[in-house]
Amino acid sequence: MHRTGSEAIEFVEAAPPDFRNPASCPALVLNADFRPLSYYPLSLWSWQDTLKAVVLDRVNIVSHYDTVVHSPSTEFVLPSVVSLKTYVKPPRHPAFTRFNVFLRDGFSCQYCGAPRDLTFDHVIPRRAGGRTTWENVVAACSPCNLRKGGRMPKKAGMVPRQTPHQPTVYELHENGRKFPPNYCHESWQDYLYWDTELEP
Ligand SMILES: [Zn+2]
Repeated sequence: MHRTGSEAIEFVEAAPPDFRNPASCPALVLNADFRPLSYYPLSLWSWQDTLKAVVLDRVNIVSHYDTVVHSPSTEFVLPSVVSLKTYVKPPRHPAFTRFNVFLRDGFSCQYCGAPRDLTFDHVIPRRAGGRTTWENVVAACSPCNLRKGGRMPKKAGMVPRQTPHQPTVYELHENGRKFPPNYCHESWQDYLYWDTELEP
């Protein structure tokens, strides 16, 4: 998973989940068209939220874990994949967040391609009137950020690999699919990769 709260973003390895423990049994949430609501981060609900949605009749259960939770009067087999009964239309334009800027830029420095130690760079520096917008902010590694400093791209000889732009949700989904989750229950795979496997 990725931390989004700090300036630098790091890839952190998680321990393999223990599927006997309900806390390790989130459900993959699909839209009514059976595509994940989000690829990256993957749309997952805790088992509690999932059972709540089942009880409220908001989702269909597509697949199960072997894991069972008990209440005093009944028991529930935990869903591993659910689909929404009502299609949620994705917003056309994603929110301008740190995470989405990194996702647009493929988690790589837009100057040297480094995948680590990422920060943000204002292409037109703030002191030259550069704004904090999709069109002026790119992912940059700390060394490149330092090297560029407050200079204009041409002056620094550092031009972003891609012209920064406001992405569509579709574009971010496509980028997100390049980052498969560290761990993936077998029942999820059909819904995460079904269309990539059909490619020749
Ligand atoms: Zn760099």
